[in-house]
Amino acid sequence: MTRYDVAVLGGGIIGASLAEELTRRGGRVCLIERNTIGCEASNAAAGILSAQSDLEQPDAFFEFCQASMQLYPTWVAHLERVARRPIGYHVDGILHLALTPSGVRQMEVRRRWQRRLGYRVERWSAQEVRRREPNVGNQVKAGFFFPDEAQLDNVALMEALAVACRRAGVAVWEQTMVRRLLVRRGMAAGVQTSRGACQADVVVNCLGSWASLGGSRIRLPRIVPAKGQMLAFEAPKRFLRHVVMSEAGYAVQRRDGTLIAGSTVEFVGFDKRVTMEGLHTIVSGFTRMFRREALEACAFRESWVGLRPCGPDRLPVLGPTRLPGLHAAIGHFRHGILLAPMTAKVMAELILDGRSSFDLGPFSIKRFSK
Ligand SMILES: Cc1cc2nc3c(=O)[nH]c(=O)nc-3n(C[C@H](O)[C@H](O)[C@H](O)COP(=O)(O)OP(=O)(O)OC[C@H]3O[C@@H](n4cnc5c(N)ncnc54)[C@H](O)[C@@H]3O)c2cc1C
Repeated sequence: MTRYDVAVLGGGIIGASLAEELTRRGGRVCLIERNTIGCEASNAAAGILSAQSDLEQPDAFFEFCQASMQLYPTWVAHLERVARRPIGYHVDGILHLALTPSGVRQMEVRRRWQRRLGYRVERWSAQEVRRREPNVGNQVKAGFFFPDEAQLDNVALMEALAVACRRAGVAVWEQTMVRRLLVRRGMAAGVQTSRGACQADVVVNCLGSWASLGGSRIRLPRIVPAKGQMLAFEAPKRFLRHVVMSEAGYAVQRRDGTLIAGSTVEFVGFDKRVTMEGLHTIVSGFTRMFRREALEACAFRESWVGLRPCGPDRLPVLGPTRLPGLHAAIGHFRHGILLAPMTAKVMAELILDGRSSFDLGPFSIKRFSK
């Protein structure tokens, strides 16, 4: 039986990008996914890469988001070259609409500290917003434009990652359920799966919302699913020029015209139903952001639900656990697409070289035992 250097559990964006990175750096890696690569939160996402507009303070998480954003152009070029397909990465900027006076104040605080640190943020008047984004409605009080933010087609990204994993030489075990951790002489030694044992020197838990369920005697911080309902519409091309976000929801338009409308954040367990209430929340948010006549031109196409992996403090948990040989890369909550390249880089450094180029202290599992 093949013995692997690393068994990566979970074929979401975190597990797949880590498995590919480790293999490119010379590791023998097995990636184990109970269904198919990308099938859960990673395909359900909106594909917004927001390392500024969504962040409240200049802390370690902000630095980590920025570092990942910097890796994106090279990572995308690599994946597009290997997979020979485009993944819709566009740096068009994000326009945040402030719809209330308190929303304006909150975004103005954000603009100030980001400008002080040298990041680009523009404040637009309501008139300027409607000139630049003509379908925005008249509830907007001001706009905050982040020109360096981006979007991509996360489903295309996951397809490319699946190809890249195989081309790099990752042993991909799809349709394979991880059942339990194997422990030998007090160290992780692999996992038992629905298709037999996978022996490995290092095991990395990248199981997303399912990270804390059964199978392991090692207590991890509790990761719970944060349900997000999403809608897609057929809209006229150039309905939007930028990703548009606000306190009432967000809108992303792909180049083929598809308009993605999100989203809810609900702590209701592993429930993947689209509900009347969820639809209402998203659609009423859209009626606050956009002109009614403009929305009349948008035809409903589909809806879906994804489960964001959310830890106790809503920050990722990265690095070693109390059991030697067992690592975690979990809890990416609302930013897993953005954070994938940086997570893969630092986790690969940690596993193969014993240290990472970014201080992972703020994301260490130890923060929960203080
Ligand atoms: C509606 C929505 C919108 C979002 N929008 C954005 C966005 O615009 N930008 C952004 O950066 N992030 C966004 N996110 C967040 C992002 O999608 C997540 O943070 C990210 O996908 C988490 O990746 P993951 O690999 O940890 O989890 P997942 O993608 O959920 O992967 C976990 C994998 O583990 C597998 N698994 C579980 N149990 C087992 C088992 N026992 N054996 C084998 N395999 C198992 C699952 O099948 C799954 O494929 C959004 C999320 C949602 C839901």
